Amino acid sequence: MKPIYKPSGAAAEYGDYAINIYTGCPHRCYYCFAPTVLRKDRETFHSVVEPRANIVEETRKQLEREHITGKTIHLCFTCDPYPTGYDTTPTREIIKLLKQYGNHVQILTKGDGSRDFDLLDGDDWYGITLDGMLRNIRLFGRTNPLADAHSRGIKTWVSFEPVTHEGMFVMELLLVRDIADKVKIGKLNYHPSNIDWKTFGRKAEAMCQVLGIDYYIKDSLRREMEKWAERL
Ligand code: SF4
Repeated sequence: MKPIYKPSGAAAEYGDYAINIYTGCPHRCYYCFAPTVLRKDRETFHSVVEPRANIVEETRKQLEREHITGKTIHLCFTCDPYPTGYDTTPTREIIKLLKQYGNHVQILTKGDGSRDFDLLDGDDWYGITLDGMLRNIRLFGRTNPLADAHSRGIKTWVSFEPVTHEGMFVMELLLVRDIADKVKIGKLNYHPSNIDWKTFGRKAEAMCQVLGIDYYIKDSLRREMEKWAERL
């Protein structure tokens, strides 16, 4: 078993290395692509959430065997490292191991990873997804840990992928402008949307530039923007 792997295709935009800790994810995002990638029944994926078999020990063995060091490793691609309502001790153990071997982590969650902030430093990234679907308390439940990480000197990022609502994107971008070191913006793929991606991408990029936010436009959205430019 090789828990640490190099993502390919669109997943490679998340990072050079990744690790998936759990078998499923309870967050039930309607656009979730993970069951398709894993060839799993959607309901099973969302309801059976367990650490992958021997994930901590297998990670330790791989780190030792392959001398993996000095890498930034993404947590997680086909699950969430902080599945709400579940024991996330395996995530904590994995972070400890990765750092013990001289690696850094790039966390992306829709849960709350603050329990592990004591393990992170200025070479690690803590990130949240804002997809325009949260309101009030639930939104702050995600942005408050981000602010906490930022205040501790941990690098912070926000994945605006997928964008599901233009107005919410603007509101959320303004909300995190002072606590996110980087934002990544991507379109909704494989689902219908009434967003004009060409226009949206242009506006989102201009907004980041005006606000002085370090940003990255995901490839699929960039392609739509380039189609727009070709028509000028
Ligand atoms: S948080 Fe990620 S893995 Fe979990 S259901 Fe949502 S998209 Fe899927």
